[in-house]
Amino acid sequence: MRLTIEIDSGSGFCNGVVRAVRKAESYLSDHDRLYSLGAIVHNAQEIERLAAEGLQIIDIDRMASIRDDVVLVRAHGEPPATYELAQRNGITIIDCTCPVVLQLQKKIAATYRKVHAAGGTLVIYGKKGHAEVNGLVGHTEGNAVVVESISELDSIDFSKPVALFSQTTKDTEEYAALTEECRRRSQECSGKFESFNTICRQVAGRHAALASFAESHDVILFVSGRESSNGNVLYNLCRKHNPRTFWVENGQIPAGILHDGDSVGICGATSTPRWQLEELYIHLHNNIINKQ
Ligand code: SF4
Repeated sequence: MRLTIEIDSGSGFCNGVVRAVRKAESYLSDHDRLYSLGAIVHNAQEIERLAAEGLQIIDIDRMASIRDDVVLVRAHGEPPATYELAQRNGITIIDCTCPVVLQLQKKIAATYRKVHAAGGTLVIYGKKGHAEVNGLVGHTEGNAVVVESISELDSIDFSKPVALFSQTTKDTEEYAALTEECRRRSQECSGKFESFNTICRQVAGRHAALASFAESHDVILFVSGRESSNGNVLYNLCRKHNPRTFWVENGQIPAGILHDGDSVGICGATSTPRWQLEELYIHLHNNIINKQ
């Protein structure tokens, strides 16, 4: 089969994930084991690779039973309660919270104090239960309201001050639409509304580039773990711009999707390591182009 294949130059780990993985690798080069609080990256193959080096993923309940050891906090960040637990248990934290998330946590904590004092609400546009969102909510004493869509705004009292923030990996257009709707509701009842653009620039910048990459190929193979929040956003973006977009997980290409002469684009989420895109490229060459 004749195919032309291109890997998206902007795909691969974001800076926050690169930093976390490097810190884990550097620690494991001198130690046999390192605990990671939650998956360091939402990518099964990368987790497997790091597990072979000694990275063990634990949850917060397991961390509560650990004493005098070392635990890595991933790029998503954690609520203050996690650091308090570490201190109580004599745990040393290797803090890989992405600097962008760290700034967001500080901004949210400061804004929450003001909004809360005025009887208002701090709203976070994000995925409920996502680690970054849980961490952000923890910086508001658990009082932030997390919304996933405009339809969830009805519970918010817009006659009081409202401050809106976004999880770093959300879609910019959707956030703009939510911001407009909040502004409208707030104006209707003469409330005070503030919105902060807290989508990671590395993610936001990728949207336009990825949309044009998706349009410039016949088929898009999108490589990501399905539980990746950013993966879902970027997959849907590609699909919007190219209906022949297919999810590739664990190197499995859905059967019958490639046709002779196709130009194939390979891309992925911020949690997809570059080596997985390259492996898929080589796989296509060796097993499809050269075999048929
Ligand atoms: S997406 Fe942006 S904010 Fe989130 S970890 Fe990566 S670099 Fe940091």
